[in-house]
Amino acid sequence: MGERDLIRTFTARLGRRDDRLLIGPGDDAAVVRPAGALAVTSTDTTVEGVHLPAGDPRATPGVVGHRSLATALSDLAAMGVPAGEAYVALTIPASWDDDDVLACVDAMESLAARTGTAIAGGDVSAGPALVATVTVVGWADDEEDLLRRDRARPGDLVGVTGELGGSACGLAVLRDDALLAGPAHAEARAALVERYLRPTPRLAAGVALRRAGVRVGIDLSDGVATDAGHVGRRSAVRLRIDLERLPLQAGVAAVASETGRDPAELAATGGEDFELLVTAPAALAGRLPGLGITWIGEVLAAAPGDAGGVTLLRGGEPVRLAGFEHRAG
Ligand SMILES: [Mg+2]
Repeated sequence: MGERDLIRTFTARLGRRDDRLLIGPGDDAAVVRPAGALAVTSTDTTVEGVHLPAGDPRATPGVVGHRSLATALSDLAAMGVPAGEAYVALTIPASWDDDDVLACVDAMESLAARTGTAIAGGDVSAGPALVATVTVVGWADDEEDLLRRDRARPGDLVGVTGELGGSACGLAVLRDDALLAGPAHAEARAALVERYLRPTPRLAAGVALRRAGVRVGIDLSDGVATDAGHVGRRSAVRLRIDLERLPLQAGVAAVASETGRDPAELAATGGEDFELLVTAPAALAGRLPGLGITWIGEVLAAAPGDAGGVTLLRGGEPVRLAGFEHRAG
């Protein structure tokens, strides 16, 4: 198929679930009626060989499609707004045939349907490597009614959704067949790989937390050790997090033990879990049961001269994690 036919076939496979989309794919530009006064917009790029292992048979076109939309949507989850529209630019390598392109689009459309996202436009082009760039837009009414990085206050508690470390361990397992090779680990191993290949953006949790009154959040794309530091610096406070309280996905402890690493450290520095980290005043935190939050620390005022950041504790003592400083830079 030529590029024009591919775009036509791509477009034919997209569902319309957005009555805000007045003119969708097929005209020169998309025309959208705003669903709020404020557009909340984020762009994310997935490059094969950089964000996904090149040549791994499990990194299929379907995985590329799912993952590129999921990682973009995670940033809307991190703002606490529902998904609106997505705009997709795909650069297709020579190694992909038409079926590969359609599998990629179908996986994207499947996640779009599940999350209420309307794929409102995009472009497909041939190129030297697979690159998927996804821009997502959500709608909001008030810049104070969002999960922001710059509103953490001393006395807030620090919490995370879900379980951590799974994605990094999934990637480790993809790279080393000997890891968790025994039959006892088969289920955990498969779940870790799935976590890495097909992460779930926490859109429902983000919206529920914001509606419940939470005003601070970030998605865990680089790991708690790095992402909590972003909140600390943006808010000019210090987040103090107990490594022992991090919720670990099943199999993370086993990967840590087989690779000679500390499981909490793996969970704190392993990226791409795409859970949410939030802070909330203690009284509000007590009213958030059922949202699956694990409370892992607290927010302290920054000392004089401290620009803010994160302090990780083990056994009540501050620890420095190998590799953490350069990631945090
Ligand atoms: Mg983010």
